[in-house]
Amino acid sequence: MSLRFDAIGGITNETGAPAPSGAKITGIFNEHVFTLKIAREFLSDEAYKSLATSIRGGKKIDRIVASQIASGIRAWAESKGVTHFTHWFQPLTGTTAEKHDSFFTLKSDGTAIEEFDGAALIQQEPDASSFPSGGLRATFEARGYTAWDPSSPPFIIEIGKGKTLCVPTIFVSYTGESLDYKAPLLKALEALNKSAVEVCNYFDKNITKVTATLGWEQEYFVIDESLVNARPDLVQCGRTVFGAAPAKGQQLEDHYFGSIPERVYAFMRDYEQEAYKLGIPLRTRHNEVAPAQFECAPIFEEVNIAVDHNTLLMDVMTRVAKRHKLVVLLHEKPFAGINGSGKHNNWSMATDTGVNLLAPGKTPKTNLMFLTFFVNTIKAVHDHADILRAAIASAPNDHRLGANEAPPAIISVFVGQYLAKVLADVESRVNTKFDEQDEAILKLDLHRSIPELMLDNTDRNRTSPFAFTGNKFEFRAVGSSANCAISMTVVNTIMADTLKKFKADVDALIEKGDKKEIAIMQVIQKYIVESKKVLFEGDGYSDEWHHEAERRGLPNLKTTPVALDAMITDKAKKLFEANGVYSHTELEARHEIELEKYIKKVQIEARIMGDLAINHILPAAIKYQNELLTNVNGLKAAGLPESAYKSQLTLVTEVSEHIQQVHDKVHEMVEARKVANNIENTRTKAIAYESQVKAKYFDDIRYHVDKLEHLVDDDMWTLPKYREMLFLR
Ligand code: ADP
Ligand code: MG
Repeated sequence: MSLRFDAIGGITNETGAPAPSGAKITGIFNEHVFTLKIAREFLSDEAYKSLATSIRGGKKIDRIVASQIASGIRAWAESKGVTHFTHWFQPLTGTTAEKHDSFFTLKSDGTAIEEFDGAALIQQEPDASSFPSGGLRATFEARGYTAWDPSSPPFIIEIGKGKTLCVPTIFVSYTGESLDYKAPLLKALEALNKSAVEVCNYFDKNITKVTATLGWEQEYFVIDESLVNARPDLVQCGRTVFGAAPAKGQQLEDHYFGSIPERVYAFMRDYEQEAYKLGIPLRTRHNEVAPAQFECAPIFEEVNIAVDHNTLLMDVMTRVAKRHKLVVLLHEKPFAGINGSGKHNNWSMATDTGVNLLAPGKTPKTNLMFLTFFVNTIKAVHDHADILRAAIASAPNDHRLGANEAPPAIISVFVGQYLAKVLADVESRVNTKFDEQDEAILKLDLHRSIPELMLDNTDRNRTSPFAFTGNKFEFRAVGSSANCAISMTVVNTIMADTLKKFKADVDALIEKGDKKEIAIMQVIQKYIVESKKVLFEGDGYSDEWHHEAERRGLPNLKTTPVALDAMITDKAKKLFEANGVYSHTELEARHEIELEKYIKKVQIEARIMGDLAINHILPAAIKYQNELLTNVNGLKAAGLPESAYKSQLTLVTEVSEHIQQVHDKVHEMVEARKVANNIENTRTKAIAYESQVKAKYFDDIRYHVDKLEHLVDDDMWTLPKYREMLFLR
């Protein structure tokens, strides 16, 4: 029997792991995290203070204290049954990496002891040669090391009966270039802190720290494991390269917010429990628009922690799904014809005085602070839309951006009608210089119109890539499998840079004799005028917007190889260097790595397509064709007239035509790949893979394969069909 029918037969019996017991969340929350509260218990006063100040102020911890902290962490971990530890980091492969060592060691005299010293906590040397470096290693230094990041707490990962202590780290080369996603993110957050505090001090001298906050929303698909195993494309690329649309897709939209299927529900509760133990504050779960698609979201946290929690959760979900004989698909577009998955990044900034800088205030004064940060964000997105676009570019996300279901590849900002009116009001005074009276009126206007916004939750725009949602911006174009650090590094860097300029512009006016608040209003006004072309309140999925955007001169880069260009322009190099986030070489290296990733992903998909077409699709089609022919010959031999087998002949002809097409196109595609493989320059090669391999053949081959799926006897078809993967659970 075919793998497909085995798989389908298996489903009904596969109840998977039982649903976990209904433990209270507060009872297990942070159970596996070395929080400051736990640190208090396991560390000496000195070690505790040192750790706490390092977390708050980023102060360095010296080696002796580090050893004390290390043994405290070990004592805690051992009390939980941990035997091994690892530095946990986020290399540029896009996944997380770990290398486990045991606490067990031998002293020089041969006695066995358990040990975890300061050196092991602070630094480790994984074999860096197998992680992407974009040529950095060739030019610089072969080795890399991981370094402890005290701002993210150590945690325990439990797999089966084994428990491992994970220490969050950054990954850098010996010459100091960052080789991961976290190091630049931490730099960007520090840059933002610096320039945001300076601007905050116009309004409140007590503010000494600004932290960026992130609440991500993770979309994903859940598919039965046995069906996935019967689909080599899902196993190897995380998406289906073939598959005819089922009679029922998502047209009824009956899945959205519907009741969650029982097996999936058990899986959700299971991964949620693991997440709570790891301190991931999950809050929401629901069905998404597409069949078999779901979403979860936590309460927002500091960006650094939120990023760790998201990457950690992606691991946890993948692992826990296996227990339930399910597979989580984090790919941006696992199935054609139905919605793909994104990862909305809700972003804001908070002060150490407890103010959300993107929340409209209660008094005219705080509203001016809000307006300042609000307009600076719009200006940052306007000035650096190209870099934001590059930050979300990837082979899988190309399937989403620009398709009629996800924000377009055109970066624009939605602010809602009230704030749009506020901005228009400020702008309309463009020719009249602000005076004291203006200031008073404006402040009042602001105050009057903004609070209404809080009441109006319906003023939402789900088609905008960067939308204001009441007290935060939501970057909606991020892909579901992406590491949020990439987009967060960019968002925080461009904000840091814009605020720096804002401060300089305001100070220049103050020096010329303007009153502070009037100076601020004038710069705000100037920024609105300069960046208003990025504002768009309409339907981002519509054709009109594409035309309108073109008129406005907004870029619309639909493919990754060209979207990535923005990473290495002079503008980008200056921006990242000035804010201490990336050096020029680091940017060049990352650009190279992203291009290489793109090439490899398209290459793998092309190969899988070829394999499936030749080994699965054509044999099934030919078998069916033979069956038809046997039938025709039998009828002929029995002396029946041609009219008796006319339909069969038509079918044979149709099947033949598609077989020829699939066969020929696959061969042409293989040739096109060979040509692309011979291209030296990585960017040119990526463009060739995009235009000469993917764009030219993928849809075309798929078209004929999907036609065959409709024609060929269901019994002979070996790959699980869309209706089976999406609706059987
Ligand atoms: P929705 O967007 O579906 O209405 P919410 O507004 O409640 O849902 O929040 C969506 C996500 O935004 C959640 O992860 C939430 O924690 C996060 N969020 C809310 N406020 C902030 C903030 N100030 N900074 C960052 N993220 C936030
Ligand atoms: Mg949202």
